[in-house]
Amino acid sequence: MQVDLGPILTVTGFILGFYFLAFLLSLVIWTFRDIRSRSRDIFVQLLATLLVLVFNLPGLLLYFILRPQESLAEAYQRSLEEEALLQDVEERDSCPACKRPIQPDYLFCPHCHTQLKKACSNCGHLLHLAWDLCPYCGIREPALASEERESSPE
Ligand SMILES: [Zn+2]
Ligand SMILES: [Zn+2]
Repeated sequence: MQVDLGPILTVTGFILGFYFLAFLLSLVIWTFRDIRSRSRDIFVQLLATLLVLVFNLPGLLLYFILRPQESLAEAYQRSLEEEALLQDVEERDSCPACKRPIQPDYLFCPHCHTQLKKACSNCGHLLHLAWDLCPYCGIREPALASEERESSPE
């Protein structure tokens, strides 16, 4: 009995080829998504995607070596933390004008007389100069937020 292997080989080859294409496509899509979360540069995105499209698995290996270590979300998170830390240290320890040490509850800098904070006219809590609403009692402080506008008629 002679079995014709031709059609079986064709079908097997077709399935394998289809599987390989699907695999390659998913690699490319994964790379594109990954690089988009790590870089906003469209050139870098294209380059990374092409790298995997042309070189397949070795390309993916190269991409793992070359890709930015940090995702954009992680970098953003880190910059926020650093900024908050910096602001905290600056605000807590020194006058923004003369950089000399101050206490957090100072209204004015004792060295250069810069106004550092303002007191709520209703409850007396210390407020940042930029705030126009007291977070403690909820009263709006338009006069304190913009003292230069006081001279203009109501
Ligand atoms: Zn000062
Ligand atoms: Zn208040």
